[in-house]
Amino acid sequence: MTAAIMAARAGASVAVLEHMDTLGKKLLVTGNGKCNFAAETQGEVDYYGANPAFVVPVFQSFGLEEILAFFQELGIEPYFNRGGYYPRSGQASAVAAVLLKELQRLGVHIYVQCGIRSIEDAHRQYKIETKEGNFYGKCCVLATGGKTFRKSGSDGSGFLYLTGLGHHVTPLFPALTGFCAKQTFFQEIAGIRIRAGLTLFVDEKKQAEESGELQLTAYGLSGIPMFQLAHPAAEGLQNGRTVRILVDFYPEISMEKCRHKLRERFACFGNDKNGCEACIGLFPDKLIPVLFRQAALDSKKKAGHFSEKELEAFCDQIKAFPVDLTAWHTFDQAQVTAGGVDTGEIRNDTLESLLHEGLYFAGEMIDIDGKCGGYNLQWAWASGAVAGRNAALRSKERA
Ligand SMILES: Cc1cc2nc3c(=O)[nH]c(=O)nc-3n(C[C@H](O)[C@H](O)[C@H](O)COP(=O)(O)OP(=O)(O)OC[C@H]3O[C@@H](n4cnc5c(N)ncnc54)[C@H](O)[C@@H]3O)c2cc1C
Repeated sequence: MTAAIMAARAGASVAVLEHMDTLGKKLLVTGNGKCNFAAETQGEVDYYGANPAFVVPVFQSFGLEEILAFFQELGIEPYFNRGGYYPRSGQASAVAAVLLKELQRLGVHIYVQCGIRSIEDAHRQYKIETKEGNFYGKCCVLATGGKTFRKSGSDGSGFLYLTGLGHHVTPLFPALTGFCAKQTFFQEIAGIRIRAGLTLFVDEKKQAEESGELQLTAYGLSGIPMFQLAHPAAEGLQNGRTVRILVDFYPEISMEKCRHKLRERFACFGNDKNGCEACIGLFPDKLIPVLFRQAALDSKKKAGHFSEKELEAFCDQIKAFPVDLTAWHTFDQAQVTAGGVDTGEIRNDTLESLLHEGLYFAGEMIDIDGKCGGYNLQWAWASGAVAGRNAALRSKERA
């Protein structure tokens, strides 16, 4: 939608071909219905892919200032909250609505329920075969998204046209998703939401750490800190590596302070409470017996009877609780698809294909995925704007 708006504003005659019954369906579910449409930063450290630096020239052309100005001009008043921008109205539907209105104002031809069958580079023009008939354009911008959350329309079919055009797609896997764990106790602790620190190890090598509200589910780990580690975790699993998370259930204090605190607490409750009871108010009650069990300790023993060594073992579980990841939860429910069109085959300043003049790529279908927090949508807008503007310029040359 951004690509079409920018191309039309640059004077091109534009048609959007969409196979769903309306444009921008995925936008409605973003940010829990509130649409976190941009983030505070736009650096290569915020993105994954074979070459994350690919995003740099794109954001130099269309960065945060341009994104906010673009949406403000369309009527979206930005509201800043915890590192991300949202429409002040708190409605993702507002973002989809203003984009659609602008497309209509610019006279962009919109074809919905238009299933594409093939795309052909046919002598200085693109022939797009659909079940509604053939469309021809001097340039073509492909922005068909990834292959997660299929019911919004991004079913991965866009990648199918690329093989005929000679483009390569790097392996696709879900990012920003929950993970299944090998340990069998997750049924017991499902439903807990707890502030935690997570450290990711792939083949025992530390890869990254994150903190935030962790969700313990019946299958394993979810929530924002797990999402933030999802790309390297999924990549590790995809490559057959062992992937382990150490969860710190008491991230605000050091291991030393944790030991000290437990020693004091257990001594204070002495014979009045058992180990389990001594931890109530410190950790969620469903979690406490699991921590004791994993430390091979009897939670029913009087708090004052735990030895220094036993308290250390308990503390190890609290500060570095091992969870072995076996698989991502579901591909389809992930928020983003990692992998995509090989960035080595795309110009990073214009997003034009290096294989076909006049063919452009934008958004999630490129081998770029961002962290959680507005990074994926800002990539979609920025890359769409750059691709659309440059496609309009190229189409004038191809006249
Ligand atoms: C639940 C959820 C919440 C999210 N929340 C956020 C958030 O708050 N902030 C954030 O930055 N990101 C968020 N994301 C990620 C973000 O929505 C996507 O990265 C972004 O929408 C990608 O934009 P896109 O235009 O590249 O692809 P999409 O938004 O997927 O759009 C692709 C379009 O192409 C159409 N299409 C696909 N194949 C074809 C075909 N063969 N023919 C014709 N049309 C086709 C689709 O129907 C769709 O309309 C979220 C994702 C999900 C699933």
